[in-house]
Amino acid sequence: MLRFIATLTLGLALAASAKANVWSEASGPTGGAPKAIGDTSAGCLQGSKRLPEDGEGYMAMHLERDRIYGHPRLIDTIKSLGRRAARGLGILHVGDLGMARGGPMPFGHRSHQTGLDVDVWFDLHPSLHLKANQDRSNIKAFSLLSPVSNGLNYDLWDENHAIILKAAAQHPEADRIFVNARIKQELCRTTQGDRDWLRKIRPWFYHEDHFHLRLACPDDSPSCVRQKAIPLGDGCDALDGWLSKPSEPTPQKKPPAPPKPLMPPECRAILAEP
Ligand SMILES: [Zn+2]
Repeated sequence: MLRFIATLTLGLALAASAKANVWSEASGPTGGAPKAIGDTSAGCLQGSKRLPEDGEGYMAMHLERDRIYGHPRLIDTIKSLGRRAARGLGILHVGDLGMARGGPMPFGHRSHQTGLDVDVWFDLHPSLHLKANQDRSNIKAFSLLSPVSNGLNYDLWDENHAIILKAAAQHPEADRIFVNARIKQELCRTTQGDRDWLRKIRPWFYHEDHFHLRLACPDDSPSCVRQKAIPLGDGCDALDGWLSKPSEPTPQKKPPAPPKPLMPPECRAILAEP
């Protein structure tokens, strides 16, 4: 009976707030050594670390969502990209990482569940750099797509975007990076010399206002599910299917996603830890 009441109470609490679920309500990171568990679309995270809200060359956005946790390697990777940005590129606006124990988010992402994913805005503009106590919840990422040409907006795109994408792709922990196909097309067109890094830059729906960096499964995480291997080559000859359709800005409400893989039973213990 008690359990029934507890379930009912939880159900009512969830109904009252569509922006919460059991994972977003978790009280904070678990103890224990860092471990990414399961698939990025059905997994969780032990021993997460919180990204400091401000650091050299970066600022975290949407602090009210509290999606600022990741595997320590993700935190270190973001800091290192921030230091790169600080050398003349501007300021990284860091969007969502994951929640304190990972897991599915009540809104906004299908992946980001194992502490290995982060969204980084294409806004590098230093003048928007705010102090920690100022509200950044209303600042929106801007799209790099042109509203008229079905290509990039060259008033907004510049070489610094290519430099930070290359730095992210060449980071030793990076598995892949998702960007809008028109951004990949631009990188394919303009890259001279070494093109190896282009392989990790993957065209995907939307991603016109941010790039999504996903790290490879760390060696401390044996139950982390590896992503399908990326085809060989720079991928520049595989863009036609993407580019033949009109570019689409990110919709407010995303279409329903395909069925998810099952979450590993290990995650139940992660959620249950006090
Ligand atoms: Zn993302």
